[in-house]
Amino acid sequence: MQLIVDEGHLGQSEEAWKRSERLANLAPLAPIRARRVLIVAPHPDDEVFGAGGLIQHLLSEGIPLEVVAVTDGEGSHPGSTAISTVDLASTRVRESLEALRRLGWREPLITRLHLPDSNVRGYRQQLQETLRLKLRPGDLCIAPWRFDGHPDHDVCGEASLHASRSAGVQILSYLVWTWHWADPNSTDLPWRLSRRFELSRRARAKKRWATSAFASQIQAIGPDAADAAILPAPLLRRFWRPFEVFIDEAQAP
Ligand SMILES: [Zn+2]
Repeated sequence: MQLIVDEGHLGQSEEAWKRSERLANLAPLAPIRARRVLIVAPHPDDEVFGAGGLIQHLLSEGIPLEVVAVTDGEGSHPGSTAISTVDLASTRVRESLEALRRLGWREPLITRLHLPDSNVRGYRQQLQETLRLKLRPGDLCIAPWRFDGHPDHDVCGEASLHASRSAGVQILSYLVWTWHWADPNSTDLPWRLSRRFELSRRARAKKRWATSAFASQIQAIGPDAADAAILPAPLLRRFWRPFEVFIDEAQAP
């Protein structure tokens, strides 16, 4: 499956997801009792889009968190002449730091792996081994779903699942691009394994404020088609919902 995102491919509308009874009636996420939580982010923003509400909750519970930033996101605008890949990477790293601070995380702990954006697949074994060495008994791993639809997300999900199982730790998968391609009325999503995490009004507002830190992704960075926003407003709205969804991989085959 190829993920196509542009003005002509805006994916499932948020209205369609709003009408989904399956989504409305998901079982709630069970309370998290982890010693520490490791959050795997393929690109500098996925952790906020996919789990920005849950991150706020974990911070309020005093649970130690660490983000594993797999790439620096330098591949978001291939073909753009408005910004160099080096500048794009440093911009995105800065944006994600600001967004995490907006969630209330004063000094975010981030381990950057600097793997190549759009080619994490070539480093899967290395990624899996790095995660395996980081995970300890009692940890929880939060990672993109291995069928999320972007090649980097999928491989991060696979490596995280294998590393978590090998370390014997719990793993929850978050969703970013699934909301784009999946059909709310189909079995594209593993509904039985999916859990809802409700956001308070305050948490939702903070998450929305955090998502606005990603200027390089939510606005055009120049006049050409190659400079277009990766997440124009209709897509960004998916991440302003009053809830987040996580797949409980403990039950997955
Ligand atoms: Zn991503």
